[in-house]
Formats: sequence, structure tokens, C-alpha cells
Amino acid sequence: MTDLKPVTVLRGVGDALAARLHTLGVETTQDLLFLLPLRYEDRTRVVPLGELRPGQRASIEGEVLLTEVVFRGRRQMLCKIADGSGFLTLRFFYFTAQQQQGLARGARIRCFGETRRGPQGLELVHPEYRRVDPRAPPPAEEHLTPIYPTTEGVTQARLRLLVRQALDQSGTEDLKDWVPPAVLADSRLPNLREALLAVHRPPVDAPVDLLMSYRHPAQRRLAFEELLAHQLSLKLLRQRIQSDPGWPLASDGRLKSDFLAALPFSLTAAQTRVLREIEGDLQQPKPMLRLVQGDVGCGKTLVAALAATGAIQMGRQVALMAPTELLADQHAQNFRRWFEPLGVAVALLSGRQTGKARSTVLEGIRQGHASIVIGTHALFQAGVEYSSLALVMVDEQHRFGVHQRLSLREKGVVDGHQPHQLIMTATPIPRTLAMTAYADLDVSVIDELPPGRTPVKTVVLTESRRDEVVMRIRTAVLQGRQAYWVCPLIDESAEMPYQAAEETAAALAAALPELKVGLVHGRMPPQAKEGTMRRFQEGHVQLLVATTVIEVGVDVPNATLMVIENAERLGLAQLHQLRGRVGRGQHASSCLLLYRSPLSSMARLRLAVMRGTNDGFEVARRDLELRGPGELLGTRQTGLAQMRVADLSRDADLLPRVQIAAESMLRDFPAHVTPLIRRWVGHAEQYGRVG
Ligand code: ADP
Ligand code: MG
Repeated sequence: MTDLKPVTVLRGVGDALAARLHTLGVETTQDLLFLLPLRYEDRTRVVPLGELRPGQRASIEGEVLLTEVVFRGRRQMLCKIADGSGFLTLRFFYFTAQQQQGLARGARIRCFGETRRGPQGLELVHPEYRRVDPRAPPPAEEHLTPIYPTTEGVTQARLRLLVRQALDQSGTEDLKDWVPPAVLADSRLPNLREALLAVHRPPVDAPVDLLMSYRHPAQRRLAFEELLAHQLSLKLLRQRIQSDPGWPLASDGRLKSDFLAALPFSLTAAQTRVLREIEGDLQQPKPMLRLVQGDVGCGKTLVAALAATGAIQMGRQVALMAPTELLADQHAQNFRRWFEPLGVAVALLSGRQTGKARSTVLEGIRQGHASIVIGTHALFQAGVEYSSLALVMVDEQHRFGVHQRLSLREKGVVDGHQPHQLIMTATPIPRTLAMTAYADLDVSVIDELPPGRTPVKTVVLTESRRDEVVMRIRTAVLQGRQAYWVCPLIDESAEMPYQAAEETAAALAAALPELKVGLVHGRMPPQAKEGTMRRFQEGHVQLLVATTVIEVGVDVPNATLMVIENAERLGLAQLHQLRGRVGRGQHASSCLLLYRSPLSSMARLRLAVMRGTNDGFEVARRDLELRGPGELLGTRQTGLAQMRVADLSRDADLLPRVQIAAESMLRDFPAHVTPLIRRWVGHAEQYGRVG
């Protein structure tokens, strides 16, 4: 690879500097070129000292009149310079003897810094400076001066020099433009070289406003290329997975009809439509890669169960992966209730099974006795062998990383066949964003809730109204309903979250002596947790106090009241997930968000969004506005949050064109695809291993 030279090929870069550059994410000369300036300074004009005003960032030049080390509270070096129009003091708190000598009387220096008022007129504190030859003063900078993100041990001046070298050395050979003009399809975007020159050496009259807001065509060009590389990496991942055959699962649908006949309700139109889309994929001889998005409570579990029927009827296995043990337990209960009467065996593989129990479950999976296997990511750990895995379903995908999803696909390969993948998420994201983040997946949307649901009423209250809240719990329980009380982590350093939950549970039990109060938190022994959950599900526990462990998936339709303490601490996605635990039955539900003053303006906005809408897509849209897509998608989940130039919110308008460009690259310039991905995405595992 000619275009990836280590930074050590540059003059003056040894191992020590290379290690420091590494912390900036810079390993190759190309990385240097893609390290974009944070801002720019105009050093093209040397300002006469007499014209300087306080607070001005300026390039100046003068002759040293006097340099002395003084002690004014602390040791410091003062250097007085003049240029005929005025005087200026340079003040240094850290300096070497060598520096002091360099600033001897008569030396001519050029500096850059921000002026401030000092005891003896204007001064610069720790300016960037260099000595100049008075007989041949160098010309002022011809370009705006880029200011790069730096790290300890790498100065601005050093970094600028390195970038300059990298730029000068990057011939056309080294810095190949992998995006042909035909693909760029926009004459306003420059080619790669022009773009890099424009960001690293902008001319004096460059539109600084555009540059500073990353909206300059040169920056847009680079962002476009980076987004394209990510898009291509996901598409390639998909191609690689689908280059192995899948199991075509076409059954006569008998198990599915038996299942539906036993169900006390019928599917919503959206469930039926999405199920049809899934079935269409499953019949293909290539592995399905499909994401099902649907708001909390829309009934994704049922769709998953029905999707499994075809494989099971054909004697193949299905795995269902949940993000928590709690959710895996709940799925196992549901699937057993649905499937065991139909003669289908469901196994729960839990992290806490040991000894005989565990080996029995493992044996059942290996022998193929278990048709459906449910568990956490433990499902794909070493030692778990499937006899005929044909379909892998991942629930609440946003909790897993892309890597977990990939490791699972390797596990499932039997006789060279890839299992189908069905991925479910309750984090609804806008369409273009979904197409970008999940370019390796087809997307189905369940955009309808089961009938008879009354929208959850959300109320925002200050914590001082706790007594009223306690009364409302009593009233709800007297009417036969149940309630959740969620205690998020309050102060990471001061208190363990479960302690807060324990204290709250004790206080609520004392305030509501006639109620049965249960407690679940992450540190409890699994049996105790499971026992409490079960008693809550069966209605024996009426008030469940919990940490945010119950955030995902828990389904107890009789629960109609959700109290969230310190709601100001939680993000929108999490609040919406928690609220989704109620409003699952016919009874009207409420969500009470308790906050502690003072509220930050962001927290106030979040709570207002929650009060204003129940629609998960709307919540996600606002979340996107407030936090940006990196956070919304989760950093672990996609590489998109760690992009170097592009920013999904700022550059969202590029996405539709990026998608078209990706198609055209794959079709017309296949040889450019891998080098482009390598340039921006880098590590091979992010787009799947070959073979
Ligand atoms: P989520 O999409 O959040 O995972 P669940 O699968 O937990 O939602 O379903 C929420 C609740 O809705 C469950 O109690 C489930 O039994 C019920 N449900 C699912 N589909 C329907 C339907 N078509 N009609 C009525 N209730 C349904
Ligand atoms: Mg669910």
C-alpha cells in the first residue's frame, strides 16, 4: 500500500513523537492530512505595536529592548520589545536559559498571541514566537494559519510543520483520489487534493466563517468521502455475509397457523406486514439481514416468535439473544407459554446455570432437542454448539455492539451456511440516518401499536411533591393496578445506585404499609431478582422499586404507573424506554417524572419533550436535535460516532447523495472501494472478515 506511510517517514519524527501523534489518532502521513484544523488565525499581516488593542489576536514583530528574569509572586521572564510605533511586553512563566539567551537585547522576533492589559501596558503571555533575521525578514504568512487539535508534547508549530511536509510529499501517487468526479456528482465539491490544500492552507480571502463551521466545500468534500467510506464498509459487510448461502426456509406454515389460532388476539396490520417482509427474506437461499424497528410496546416479541415458526417446523434451530438476563427470562417465559403447548422445546441458557443444569441445556442445544434457544450474549460463547442454527434474532439491538453481532454470525455457520439474522430495536431513528447506520441491513418498521392502548399521560413534578406521588401509587394499587418506581444512579462517586434503590424501597414500604413492595437492582443475586420479577408479573408484588435495569423490554401489562426519580439525569431514549414499561394494557397509564431543582436547560428541554409526545419517532427526532446522532446511535454500535471529519447532524444533507454514490462506486468502480474504506474506516474487522 503506497498510500499509507507511517509518520516516521517524515523528517524529525522519531518513535517518541510518533507515540504522541498516536494519541491524536495519527499513525500515517495520510492521517495527518485528515487531521483537520479546529480553527484558523490570520497571521498574514504583521500589526504595528502602536495599533494593537487589548484582546486582539495578532501577529507582531519587534526588536528586543530588554529581557529579565524577575520575581513577582512567582519567577517569570519579561521581555520588552519595540517596533518604532509602540512597545509590548512578553511574559513567560516557564522558560529555559536557552530561550532567555535567544531573546537577548537586539534580537528581532515575530510573535503571535492574544494581547491583554498588563501592569506596563499591553502584553502577550506565552506567545508563539520565533527569531527572524533583521536583514532578511521572512514574508508574512501567505495563508490563514491552521490551528490543529494538539496533545501534550506536540506543539502547534510542530504539527503545522508536519502537516506541511505531509502535504508537500503527498504526490498524486500517494494521495489517490478514490472518488471519481462521476461519483461525486456535484461540481461544487473539489477533488481530494484541492480539498486538502484548502483546509490546510486556506488563502487569505478564504471564507473563514464557512471554514470554522465546517461548511466550506473543501470540508464537505472530505465529509462526503468519509461518509461514503462508512457506507461502503457496511455494504461490503453485507455482501460478504450474503456471499455464503443461507437456509431457505419455506414451510407450509402449519406451525404458524397453530400458533396464531391459540393467540387471544390478532396481529396488527403493521405486525402482519413486517412478518411478511421477514418471511420473504427467509425463503431466499441467502441469509436475511433485517432490522425491525418499532416503538416500545408495538409487539416485536410476537413478530419474532412468528418469524421463528418456519425454521422450527423445518427442524432447524432458532436463537434469541436479549441484552439482559431479566429480559432473557421474560422471553423464555413467553416463548414457553406460546410454544410448549405446540410441542416445541424452548431452552433458556443463562449465565448463572452451572454444573449439571448447564451441561444438560448445552447438550439439548447440541443435539438439537431445543428448537428455540434464548439467552444473553452467552448464547455465542465458547462451548455452546448448535446442531442446526438457521435463524438468529437479536432483541434490543441498541444494547449490543456491531462486533457482538458479527461474532454471532461466525458461530452460526453450519456446513458453510449462514444463519438468517433478525435484529429488533426500539430506538426508532429517522430514515436517512437508519440507511446510513444500518446500511448492511434491510429495515422494516412496525409503525402501529396494538389496539385498545390509551396513551401514557406524562407529568413532570418537582421532587418536593413526593407525598402526592405516594398517594397516587396507593390509589392505583387500590384499583388493582401495579406501579414501578425507578431510581437512577444519582451520584456516581458518592453512592452506589442500588443503595439509593434500597433506601427508597424501605422508605416506600414504610409509607405504604398495606402494599407489597419489591426491589430489583443489578447487584442482587439473580435468583432474588428473578423471584421478585416473577412476583411482580403475577401481581403479588404491587410496587416494584428498581434501578434502570428494568429499562428494556419488561412487559407487565397490569402496571399502569411509572415513577422516575431524578428524571433530569436520564437521556430521552432511556426515559422513553422506561415509560414504555407502562401503557401496555387496556388501562390508562401515567408516567410521573420527578426532578430535583435546579434544572439545566437541556434537562428542561428533555422533560418538555417527554411531556409533549408519546411517539418514539418524535422522541428520537428531538433526541437527534439535542444530542446529535453519535450519541443517539451509541458509540459502540457503529463506527459512525468516531468519524474524523463528518458529523451526522451537520452533514445530514449529504446522506442521500452518499447513498447514491455508494451504489455507483460498487457498480462502476469496484476497485476503488477497498482502498477508500481502508483510508477512512481502517480496521478490517469493522467491515467483516473475508471468508
Ligand atoms: P416490544 O415491541 O416493546 O418488545 P412487546 O413484544 O413486549 O413489545 O409487546 C407488548 C405487549 O403487547 C405484550 O404484552 C404483547 O403480548 C402485546 N401484544 C403484542 N402484539 C399484540 C397485538 N397484536 N394485539 C394485542 N396485544 C399485543
Ligand atoms: Mg421488546
